[in-house]
This record gives sequence, C-alpha cells and structure tokens, in this order.
Amino acid sequence: MRRQAGGFSPLILVIAALGVFGALLYTNAVPNESARIVIPTQPAPTQTVNPWQAVLEAGFGRQGTLPPTIPPIGTFAPPTLVYSGDVSAPVAAGDVVSVPTISFASGATPTRPLPTLPVALTDLPVTAQAVTLPTQVWQPPPLIPPISRDPLGRDHYYFSRPVDSNATNFGLFYYTYGSDGPEDAWRVHAGIDMPNPVGQTVRAAGSGRVAFAADGLRIEGAIFQNTSSYGNVVVIQHDFGFEGRPLFTLYAHLNAVLVMPGQYVNRGDPIGLVGDSGRVSGPHVHFEVRMCPTTTCNDIPSYGDTYNPLLWMVSYVGTGVIAGRLVDSFGEMIEDADITIRDWSRGTVEDTTTTYIFQDTGVDVNPDPNWQENFVASDLSVGRYEVITLVNGVRLSQVVDVVEGMTTFVELAPPEGVQLVAPPDDAALPAPTIAPEFTATPGG
Ligand SMILES: [Zn+2]
Repeated sequence: MRRQAGGFSPLILVIAALGVFGALLYTNAVPNESARIVIPTQPAPTQTVNPWQAVLEAGFGRQGTLPPTIPPIGTFAPPTLVYSGDVSAPVAAGDVVSVPTISFASGATPTRPLPTLPVALTDLPVTAQAVTLPTQVWQPPPLIPPISRDPLGRDHYYFSRPVDSNATNFGLFYYTYGSDGPEDAWRVHAGIDMPNPVGQTVRAAGSGRVAFAADGLRIEGAIFQNTSSYGNVVVIQHDFGFEGRPLFTLYAHLNAVLVMPGQYVNRGDPIGLVGDSGRVSGPHVHFEVRMCPTTTCNDIPSYGDTYNPLLWMVSYVGTGVIAGRLVDSFGEMIEDADITIRDWSRGTVEDTTTTYIFQDTGVDVNPDPNWQENFVASDLSVGRYEVITLVNGVRLSQVVDVVEGMTTFVELAPPEGVQLVAPPDDAALPAPTIAPEFTATPGG
C-alpha cells in the first residue's frame, strides 16, 4: 500500500538533555539544503492579497468566519528539516525532559492569569527508549492553510498537520476516523493516529489559545474529561471557527507537554513531544478536531463533537482528498464497510479505508456539515481513481478525479433495480474487548 511504502519518515527524536533538545529545535528551524524543492506553478491568483489569511493571522475572537473561497497566495514552505544529528546514544533511564523557556508571541499575552501547572514541566519523567531512524523519504511540501478551493466553498482546510513533513504525518490506515480497528475490537476512533517515535515534535495545527494542557494520567482532578486514557494531552481553542462554531484540536499520548493552559500559540509552534502516555499500543500522536455544536462553548466540546481531521488538514502539493458516502437502497449509510481506492490507469490499490460506525451512544463520530460523508481518503496524488466497495456481494464503484488541495465527493449507491440493505451495524455486536485508547467513560 502506498502509505505503508511511503511511511515512516525521519524522526527527530529522542528526549535528552537541554542541549540535545535545543539542537533538535535548531535543526527543526533550519531547512536542510537537500529538502529544498522546486515551487510548482500555481493557478493565477485572483487577488494580490489573500484577505482570509490576513484575517486569520490577526485573530478575531470566536465569531468564526465564512469559508474562504480563493486560493492561497505566497510561496510554498520547504519541507521542514531533515534530521541528521547523531542519535546513537539513547537517553538513560531517569533522565528528565528539558524544555525551552516558554515565551509568548508578541501581542499575544494572555488576558487572564495563567493557572499554576500541577507539575513543573521539567519534572515530567521520560521513558528511556532507543530510537532508530527510518530511511529518509522525501515529502512534497504542504499547501499553506487555510485554503478552500472548492468552487462552492464547501472545503475548510484550515489546519496544518500536527507533525513535521518528514514525520509520519498521516493516520494509521487500520484505525481510521470512525472505524473500530483490527477485528472490529477497538473503540470507534474519534481521531487519527500518527505513529512516530517518542520525542518527535508535536506542533499546533493552527493558531489559538491552549485550553487544556496537563498530565491526564497522574494528576488527580486534572484528568482530561474523566478519562486517563489520553495520557498527557493538549487542547487548543483556535482563534477562528467554522460558521461561527468554535474549533478545537486535541493532541494526546504526549511524552511531554511544552505549553501552559492559557498560552497563545501560532500554527507550527511546538506544543509537545510524541509519547506513549495513556492507553496506547505504541508511541503516536492521537489528533482530533472538535467543533462546538453551537456558536458558543462553555467548555471544550465533548468526545461526541469530533469530525474527521482529514477534511480539515491541508493537503501536500500535488495531492487531494476523496470524501464519500456509501448508502443502501433506502439512502441509509452503510457502516463498517471496506472501501478501496484504486489508481485508474495503473490498477494499483492506493488506499483503503472503512465507513464510519455510529453506535448511537451519544458520543458518535460525525459526518462533515458540508459533505455528509461516511468515509474519507487523503494524500492521494492528483489523478483518476476508482472507488470500490463490496457489500453483501454487490460491487459498487465510481470513477473520480482527485484535484490538488480539494475534496472530491463520491456517492456509492446501488443502481436502480438492485436491492441492497445495510448489514446490521456494530451496535448489535458484542461489546469491544480491546480498547487501546479509551476505556473510561468519556466526559464533557
Ligand atoms: Zn487515536
């Protein structure tokens, strides 16, 4: 599968002493010569200035905004760093993470006093772990968010990825948003998992204020939304919303948290390090996009207010996204069905995903307000694809073209005269026996 082949990119890694960490930050900040790219030709801009970007960057409270409708202006950023340091010496047991001094972006000083952190940042323990670097794989640079190239303004690619381009920056294919993992045994996934080594930098996907940042495992009273399964977790409330509804992103299972509640962060700022805290099967960052059900929020929206991050994170140059809706003869969404994305000209399978599962528990995953999809595949190179599924022996497929930086929508429905009824969903199946990430009752 393409994603597996392209997979594990480099890692900046290890948690070591301040010097090493500083060096890592430095390499993060300095684009490697070999990573420079040729800027591809872009569509002619319709305006010399993108007012959407300017408004977003200025920040404008919680009123949200209409989706942008013009392409981004400006140059592409090169892929962030290639780590070339010496990583042969693993950190020793008992080492502590050293973190840079917290500083605020100019003009972004919090308007309310910062709460006292329950644990000093420098006291967070580190699990000694040897890290081996995978072979460097070149990645195209990301487009610059926010973009909405859909002519009808339905797209809302407002966020960048929470990890660098040379990290594993896509979700695990076997535990996609809304799916229940291998053998239908895991909890329905409210986010995506990006497996990376402990110590990989986790970055803010967009600008905003830190709404929660703490160790959900060990600190009584500060356990995030009644579940310690998230481990060390950061939640950012963004200074922009969607149709007036406040947007949040969540980053879980961190090894170390580098921000404080109330702190203002810009897109790309380091907010933590990848870890394996909480209930996990291995180190990764669990990334969620949450949106308030209304235009106001009194608190971080709940576990039942998540949306598929793949429809919010900007594409890489030369790639796009397919969002689809698989329905039966009555127009009802078919759950937990395997979807195959096949390259039309080459015949190769480029991606697989699974349709969303709705368990009617009150904390279900949600289709996008604009697309009403029940599956998404992203990071597809521009080109023609066949989207295929097999339900009760009936093969459904559509051929679609993927466009850079946009969502291509496809509906898979039985043709006239073919009776197809959705198989029973997982609600009727035995309760999951394995829940690697969330076992406690979600709160919120
Ligand atoms: Zn996850």
